Amino acid sequence: MRTETTLIHPPRTADEPFQTLTVPLHHASTVTFETMAAFESRHERLYDGYSYGLYGTPTSRSLEQQIAALEGGTRALVTPSGLSAISLVCMAFAQKDDRILMPSSMYGPARTMAQRLLAPLGIDTVFYDPTIAGSVGDLLDDRTKLVWVESPGSVTFEIQDIPAISAAAHAHGILVAADNTWATPILFNPLAHGVDLSMQSLSKYASGHSDLNMGSIAVKEEALFRRLKDVARFLGLGVGADECFLCMRGLVTLPLRLRQSEQSSLQILEWLRDQDSVVQILHPAEPNHPGHAVWTRDFRGSSGVFSIVLAPHSADVIERAFQELRLFKIGASWGGAHSLVAPSNPRSGRDDLAWLSTGHLIRLSIGLENVADLIEDLQRFFGALGATATDKRRFHTNLGASSAE
Ligand SMILES: *Cc1c(COP(=O)(O)O)cnc(C)c1O
Repeated sequence: MRTETTLIHPPRTADEPFQTLTVPLHHASTVTFETMAAFESRHERLYDGYSYGLYGTPTSRSLEQQIAALEGGTRALVTPSGLSAISLVCMAFAQKDDRILMPSSMYGPARTMAQRLLAPLGIDTVFYDPTIAGSVGDLLDDRTKLVWVESPGSVTFEIQDIPAISAAAHAHGILVAADNTWATPILFNPLAHGVDLSMQSLSKYASGHSDLNMGSIAVKEEALFRRLKDVARFLGLGVGADECFLCMRGLVTLPLRLRQSEQSSLQILEWLRDQDSVVQILHPAEPNHPGHAVWTRDFRGSSGVFSIVLAPHSADVIERAFQELRLFKIGASWGGAHSLVAPSNPRSGRDDLAWLSTGHLIRLSIGLENVADLIEDLQRFFGALGATATDKRRFHTNLGASSAE
């Protein structure tokens, strides 16, 4: 062979015996076949086996099997992001003239997707109070095909009674999908609590290093998996080998990282309770959180993401306080080694937040730094807020008012 040809067809080295502890990386679009017949029947290998890089490689299938096992499912599918996993579930199980339900506390970009992608396609979304538990049944009708749950809710951390909601939906033959990004399957297993489709953003704790975007959906029923896989194929959704490899590496330490984040968070919460400027703490481990009992019943612990509400201050004072932070970075996403803060205004687009104290809401993601350093960083922040705080109230005095009716 001549040089150009040799460079394209290098000698294949034997890959045995070569035992490693890591999953091999397969970068591929084209997959080749031994025979014409194998090529012609390649579409039969969409759900298992290999036909084209977009539809699965040994690297992506390894990650999928790992996630299925972690979730207590039989099958899992990985997607290019958490948001694409949510959109995929909606597109796979709802059609024109159907309805889906989402808790009003659901991940913001998913709510926007429902309003701006699903609505023009003729799929209506009803946003429901996350704390209504089994009475979600009153909102279901013949057109409803899917009920989403997310517990705790994004930014506001309401806990949902997922077994009660699932039972109400199943009584009408309706599927239930959970966004389990906050807890991960280490702390909560939606599939063991009545949910049909358990989704996570792997960009957060699962991969754990703030360096990739991926999502996953795990199921127990083969038919659900096949429908998801079909629609993923129609939409051309696939994932890269490097992302899968990094995610597999991240999963190895997931329980250890979560344990550390929880421990540091609980210490920081204790410290925050003594800060005059903190008027509300939104974290289900707080005994006076209205969802505390359900959370204790269903979850095995907490991760490191929660919100606090600060007493009202001028925008200038708040801005100056943020400038004092050296370790906590201002940024969206969370679940990595780095601690983050993100100011948020959950009231935009929601009218069921009467229980939420007025003031600046800040979401914190507690990373893996030494907790003493993190508390010193927060001391700088609260020092800058200074004595301007006068509006100290008891925690959660109003919390839960909306669910009591
Ligand atoms: C971040 C996030 C998503 C979306 O994940 P991406 O991978 O960033 O698309 C979905 N749900 C929740 C709860 C999230 O926090």
